[in-house]
Amino acid sequence: MKNKTAQMLNQLRMLFFQHMQNRQGELHDETLLETFLCDAKILLELKEVTFFKLDEWKRQFYKDTSTGSLHDHIMDARVQEYIEMMCKEQVDEGVGMIRMQGGVLDFQVVIPLWDNGKVIGLTAFKEQEVSVLSSLTMEEGTIFATEFTSILKTALSISNILDEERRYKQLFKVTEKFHSSMSRDAVLEEIIATLHTVYPTFDYFLLLSHDHDGHENLPIKELEYNSDNVAALQAYVSGNMEFEDQPTENQTILYAPLKGKQGVYGVLQVIAPKPFTFPTQEIEFISLLAKTAGSALENAQLYQQSKMLVADLQLINEVSHHLNSNLRLDETMVYMKRQIIKSFHAQQVGFMMIDKDDRRNILRGSSEFFDAEEADLYVSFLIDRLGGDNDSLFIGDLRIHCPNQEMQYLSLMAVPMMEGKEGKGFAVILHQEAYFFSFDMFRLLQSLIQHSSMAMANSMLREEFEKMVITDHLTQLYTRGFLDEKMSRSMEEDEEGTFIMIDIDNFKSINDTYGHQVGDEILIQVSNLLQHNIRDHDVGARWGGEELAIYLPSVTLEAGIRIAERLKDKVRDISNPGVTISVGVSHWEKGRSDSVKEVVKRADEALYSAKNSGKDRVHVHGVLQ
Ligand code: GH3
Ligand code: MG
Ligand code: MG
Repeated sequence: MKNKTAQMLNQLRMLFFQHMQNRQGELHDETLLETFLCDAKILLELKEVTFFKLDEWKRQFYKDTSTGSLHDHIMDARVQEYIEMMCKEQVDEGVGMIRMQGGVLDFQVVIPLWDNGKVIGLTAFKEQEVSVLSSLTMEEGTIFATEFTSILKTALSISNILDEERRYKQLFKVTEKFHSSMSRDAVLEEIIATLHTVYPTFDYFLLLSHDHDGHENLPIKELEYNSDNVAALQAYVSGNMEFEDQPTENQTILYAPLKGKQGVYGVLQVIAPKPFTFPTQEIEFISLLAKTAGSALENAQLYQQSKMLVADLQLINEVSHHLNSNLRLDETMVYMKRQIIKSFHAQQVGFMMIDKDDRRNILRGSSEFFDAEEADLYVSFLIDRLGGDNDSLFIGDLRIHCPNQEMQYLSLMAVPMMEGKEGKGFAVILHQEAYFFSFDMFRLLQSLIQHSSMAMANSMLREEFEKMVITDHLTQLYTRGFLDEKMSRSMEEDEEGTFIMIDIDNFKSINDTYGHQVGDEILIQVSNLLQHNIRDHDVGARWGGEELAIYLPSVTLEAGIRIAERLKDKVRDISNPGVTISVGVSHWEKGRSDSVKEVVKRADEALYSAKNSGKDRVHVHGVLQ
């Protein structure tokens, strides 16, 4: 090797290390490679030295660093072809100096940069008239290439480290923000700011799949599913990076999916305002940023969802709690209506019961609207659509379902109210605006009604129960209501019946003489006697105070009188302290258009007559004693 070349190489190496030393502490320096190339240019008396890097995506060399201009950054296709051909001829991996065939190309000498048997870059030299490199022998050329490559690799790896460091510092800033803030926008803003710092000449947009109104600081665009932007959609759907060259617009676009753990939330669009090749490391970096953005969006969405779920659960919990606190049915329904209006912003709320005979019954808590004729349209529609099924209905625009009707309310949701497996009716809510309710709201209404149906059924049962049964606490006889019910059914079904009304004589003085407690005991004694002197399907009841009553279904007047007489005697004989009773008896039989009320009234009159005739006796209505 010529001494001169060896000397130059030594000098180049020395200079390089000097530069490195000088630049210690200035880790942001991006020009180490450039300085090295400049030194080489001066020392070797060259016109221009340029380092090209291979874009692994496009299999294309692009200008990375040059002592000349970076214009026309992509290597001429013919040069590329020629170099590839020459590289293939070099069987051994490693080094070599390719002398370009004069005339065709700008560069006289090219040194490929090998890595694992592949060419990953090229240094191209433009020589002056008097050329140093071209005059080297093959052997010298190889030595030169080896030495040059070794320094180049050092410079490159240092630049890479610096570059990476710079980028990861930025990335760190972003992730720091990400972990310190629950605000999606803050994270996205930081990401966009970072991108602007790292690549100031590019434009950035966030293409998001959901509407994100009111974020002035963010370059957000709607990602439309029917858009012509195939590359963006492809990135969104596949979750992979996409590139798009737009020669007409003179720009290159990169689409990085904003990917979280559970899905893709949009696409980061990076627009390079010239035909551009994105270097591998940059792609990786942008991809990392896009992933961070994806996670931020995902977190925000999950947070929002969990907040909503918590609110939903709170509502259901609150309502269940409230309903289980023994409300009356009316109060229950009024409370439900209030909650539904509050949570769903419903304009009309209705609760409908459908009985066995398909009769509809609007429960009292419902909006007044449901009492009006106007509501028939909606109720009929519901009954029609739901039929006997216990399905729910979620309708965004009623006009589609009832095209010939003038509809005031367009949004409708209806959920069945179940008692066990049996549908008892449904809850329906309405809003004038079409598509007012969201699907999430529909699901919430379903669980709300599901959870409260039980309580509503309980309220209903309790009321029925109270109205119908219940034995009197003190006497263990039936209540007046129950007797009333039994008697009216008997008057529908049987041929005849006898009613007996009993009042204890001078009970006030018993109370006065012995005290109220003894009075109670006597009342119990008389009640027990009564209970033991009638059959199972007879009904003995406490009519009120110290008045008792007996209803004897299908019993003739004569038999009724016997029972009354027997009872009157037993009370007189057995009670202790002794009391007597006065009794009035009345009777009904089919065909005499009688009512419970009239039969009772007749017995009452007979009782009055017994009292007036000296007490301790049985009088029968209509029979003169
Ligand atoms: P008579 O019926 O013979 O005309 O006289 P009376 O003293 O029974 O008069 P009345 O029927 O008007 O009064 C009923 C009294 O019975 C009044 C009330 O203090 C008493 N009484 C009503 N219910 C109860 C009860 O549950 N326990 C007790 N100890 N007393 C009762
Ligand atoms: Mg009385
Ligand atoms: Mg009395």
